[in-house]
Amino acid sequence: MKIAVSACLLGENCKYNGKSNYDERIVRLAEDNELIPLCPETLGGLPTPRTPSERRADRVMTKDGRDVTKEFTIGAEMAMETVRRNKPDLIILQPRSPSCGKGRIYDGSFTGVLTDGDGVFAAMAIKEGYRVITADEFTSADAENGGNTRS
Ligand code: SF4
Repeated sequence: MKIAVSACLLGENCKYNGKSNYDERIVRLAEDNELIPLCPETLGGLPTPRTPSERRADRVMTKDGRDVTKEFTIGAEMAMETVRRNKPDLIILQPRSPSCGKGRIYDGSFTGVLTDGDGVFAAMAIKEGYRVITADEFTSADAENGGNTRS
């Protein structure tokens, strides 16, 4: 099956701090699946490393107060173009991220507090009906469930 994945989960050093969120369980999916790595924030032209950002209502702000909503939106749109072209059966994303988080994200206070919500890219993918899970939610059964994967 085709699986779109947050690139940082595959070991790409595209995280805000120049590191990755390497997850061996996700990397090993490449043995039996076609993985499509995506990093919406770098697609939107943001550098790595970069100042961390969090969603605040309908905006995305850096920790030092810069509005990066435009970059996040452009990057999410570009990632969605790849998703639409490839039509993945499943999308596995890095939890809590202002781009990739699903269900729970940081609340905009930069204090580590979580709130209900989705990252900018995750929200677009969910809205278009793709099956989106976080790496925290992933179990090997997800990769075996090749049918009925659009929700
Ligand atoms: S935007 Fe997504 S893929 Fe890129 S570093 Fe952040 S969580 Fe990872």
